[in-house]
Amino acid sequence: MTLNQVYNGNSIDEVVELLGKYGKEAKIVAGGTDIVIALKNEKISPRVLIDITKIDELKKIEDDGEYITLGAGVTFTQIVENDIFHGNLRGLYKACRMVGSPQIRNKGTIGGNIANGSAAADSIPPLIALGSIVSLVSSDGVREIPLEDYYYDQVRDNELLRSIRFKKPKDNQVLNFSKLGLRKALAISRLTTAVLLEFDENNIIQFVRAASGALGKYPMREIEVEEYLLGKKIKNETIDGAVDALQIAMDERLKGRSTLPYKRTAIVSILRETLESGNESKNEVGAW
Ligand SMILES: Cc1cc2nc3c(=O)[nH]c(=O)nc-3n(C[C@H](O)[C@H](O)[C@H](O)COP(=O)(O)OP(=O)(O)OC[C@H]3O[C@@H](n4cnc5c(N)ncnc54)[C@H](O)[C@@H]3O)c2cc1C
Repeated sequence: MTLNQVYNGNSIDEVVELLGKYGKEAKIVAGGTDIVIALKNEKISPRVLIDITKIDELKKIEDDGEYITLGAGVTFTQIVENDIFHGNLRGLYKACRMVGSPQIRNKGTIGGNIANGSAAADSIPPLIALGSIVSLVSSDGVREIPLEDYYYDQVRDNELLRSIRFKKPKDNQVLNFSKLGLRKALAISRLTTAVLLEFDENNIIQFVRAASGALGKYPMREIEVEEYLLGKKIKNETIDGAVDALQIAMDERLKGRSTLPYKRTAIVSILRETLESGNESKNEVGAW
């Protein structure tokens, strides 16, 4: 297919109408940091591009007291610069701050990070750990799907990824994130973990949601790690046990892959760092 039309979308309704009209012949352009490379390398050849960067509604970060909603067009820089993410949401802040370079963070969007479908997308593990819901809109209406399930039923040809929302963590919850990249600068993440932890007054974990990036086909929730951690205090042996639980899950998932031995070793320090910094920061963020 030859590209023969570029639209500058002015509103969500207009984009949805265009997607309904052109379907799989069209592609959305948000920050362009992934899609421009795919176009250049001729991995995709849409007939129509729909630029959504002018749509203000997609760039909003909304906090209604109970939920935070990120428009799909919110950039990594917007998140890094917003104080909401500097307290017990620090795991999301860290993930966005570690993306690529300042230029990539200024352009790249959360919606693009999800819609691109990469196993190594940095913002996804913390958003999964937060229990986020993705909102997709088309001429058929709105489809909402938990982010942890999204990868099994991704954005369809006639859909615009509109927003992501999650419940604000409680005062005694803290979100943490760690990343191992191949190179320090501009590293596309190879391994990440994110954990939302809630402690009781005796420092026992009473709620946990864990997620990983690049340990499978997609970013995913790590149920075995959660089951292991629940009801325990963060100590050295707890961390070792959580690492064991994750390695057993990885062995099954990555069986036969050449990257398994490397990932098995690398995950030890990554998960340790996530859990230790979650434990340390619990005293800084809220009322324990
Ligand atoms: C040098 C470099 C370094 C990078 N480093 C990192 C890194 O460290 N960590 C990381 O996670 N990523 C990294 N990336 C990848 C990229 O920046 C991110 O995935 C970014 O979030 C993509 O967002 P975007 O807005 O640029 O998406 P685009 O390139 O505009 O779009 C990506 C895909 O998503 C679709 N899409 C975008 N928005 C929507 C929407 N609202 N609804 C439906 N479909 C949509 C597009 O059609 C396209 O298929 C890097 C990229 C480069 C070039």
